[in-house]
Amino acid sequence: MADTQYLHWPFFAPHHATFAAALDAWATQHVTGAPLAADNLHHVDARNVDARCRHHVRALGESGWLRYAVAGAAYGGAADTIDTRAVCLARETLARHDALLDFAFAMQGLGSGAISLAGTHEQRARYLPRVARGDAIAAFALSEPDAGSDVAALQCAATVDGDQVVLNGEKTWISNGGIADFHVVFARTGDAPGARGISAFIVDADTRGFEVAERLDVMAPHPLARLRFTNCRVPISARIGASGEGFKIAMRTLDVFRTSVAAAALGMARRALDEALARSTSRRLFGGVLSDLQLTQASLARMAITIDSAALLTYRAAWQRDQGRPVTREAAMAKYAATEGAQQVIDAAVQLWGGLGVLHDMPVERLYREIRALRIYEGASEVQQLIIARELLRDAASAGGSPAPST
Ligand SMILES: Cc1cc2nc3c(=O)[nH]c(=O)nc-3n(C[C@H](O)[C@H](O)[C@H](O)COP(=O)(O)OP(=O)(O)OC[C@H]3O[C@@H](n4cnc5c(N)ncnc54)[C@H](O)[C@@H]3O)c2cc1C
Repeated sequence: MADTQYLHWPFFAPHHATFAAALDAWATQHVTGAPLAADNLHHVDARNVDARCRHHVRALGESGWLRYAVAGAAYGGAADTIDTRAVCLARETLARHDALLDFAFAMQGLGSGAISLAGTHEQRARYLPRVARGDAIAAFALSEPDAGSDVAALQCAATVDGDQVVLNGEKTWISNGGIADFHVVFARTGDAPGARGISAFIVDADTRGFEVAERLDVMAPHPLARLRFTNCRVPISARIGASGEGFKIAMRTLDVFRTSVAAAALGMARRALDEALARSTSRRLFGGVLSDLQLTQASLARMAITIDSAALLTYRAAWQRDQGRPVTREAAMAKYAATEGAQQVIDAAVQLWGGLGVLHDMPVERLYREIRALRIYEGASEVQQLIIARELLRDAASAGGSPAPST
C-alpha cells in the first residue's frame, strides 16, 4: 500500500485503516498468486471472464471480505448496516489492484443491496448469507434498451396473477448477467405512472421464462448481458418492499453504491499515479530522467490534486451516509468528480508512458479501457450534474429565491 496518509482524515474510524491495510495485503497476495491472473484480459473470451469473476467472488467470500457488501450480522454481514466507508475503501483498494476483482466485490453489494436495505427476514435469510460467503452471485437489473438515464420509463411488466407475479420484458447492460444466481429486477406493476409504478422482485436464474438473451462484449470485459423475461412467474413473496416502492428502493441502493463507484475510480487513478511515478523516475532521456522535466512535474502535480479532490468528495459522501444523513448531492458530486478526474489522471499516465502506454495489456492501457464505463453506469456524468443542479436549485428556492446578483 503506497500513500495511506488519507486514512487519518477525520472521515475515518480507527478500524477503517486496519481494514484497508489488511485488504491491501490480501489483494496483493490474491492477484499475484491467482492461477487465472496470468491470463491476458484483452484476449479472453466470455467463458474466461466468467471463470475469473467466479474465482474472485469465491476468494473474496472465503476470506470474509464480502461480509462488508451486505447488511445484517444475522445474515452474514459484517455489521447491521452497510459501512459505506468500508465499502468504499474495499473498492478503492481492489480497483487499484485489479478492476475485475473490484467488480466482483461491487456487484455482490449492488446486486443484493435492495435485499439488504428493504428485504423481509425470509429474503435476507435466503440470499444474504450466500452472497456474503461467495456461494451465490447477485445482479441488479434496472436498465432496459429504452430506459437508461430515463429509468422511470422502464417497460418490463409485472402482472399479479393470484399469489404469483408474471414478468414480461427485457433488461440490458446487466452486470453479472450470464453468471448470476439471482437478479433483483425492477418492473412496472402499474400502481401509478412513471417512477411510482415500479416494484422490485427477486428472480432466481433457474426460474422458467428467464433467459440470457445476449452476452455483451465491452472494451474492459466483464460478465454483462441482455436478459429476457417471457411469462416468467415468481411468487409474490419475491417482491422487495411494497408494490410501487421499487424506484425508491433502486435509488436508495444507488445512494450507497454510487459513492462506491467514485471510490473504484479513485483506486484506478491512484494506480495510474503509481505507474506514472514509476515510469517517470526511471525513464532516461535527454541526459536525465523524465521526472526531471518540469512539464512532467506539472503533470504529476495535477494528477495528485485531482486524486485528493476526488478522495475528499468520496469520503465526505461515505462518511455522511454513515451518519445517516441524506447523501444524494454528495454522492453525485463524488461520482462525477472521481470518475471524470480518474479519466484525466489515467490519460496523463498513458502520456507519460509514451508508446508503451498504448501497448495492449500494459497496466495504464488496461486502466484506460477500464475507467471509461464508470462515467456511464450508475448514472452518467451528465445525470450527476443534473442531480447536483436540481438539489442546488431546490435549496435556493426553499431559502426564498436566489441571492441577488452582485453588480
Ligand atoms: C459496463 C456497464 C455496466 C452496466 N451495469 C448495469 C447493471 O448492472 N445494471 C443496470 O441496471 N444497468 C447497468 N448498466 C446500464 C447503465 O446504468 C446505463 O448505460 C446508463 O444509465 C446510461 O443509460 P444508456 O446507456 O441508455 O444511455 P442514455 O440514457 O441513452 O444516455 C446517452 C447519453 O445521454 C446523456 N444524457 C441523458 N440524459 C441527459 C440529459 N437530461 N441531459 C443531457 N444529457 C443527457 C447521458 O449522460 C449519456 O451521455 C451498465 C452499463 C455499462 C456500460
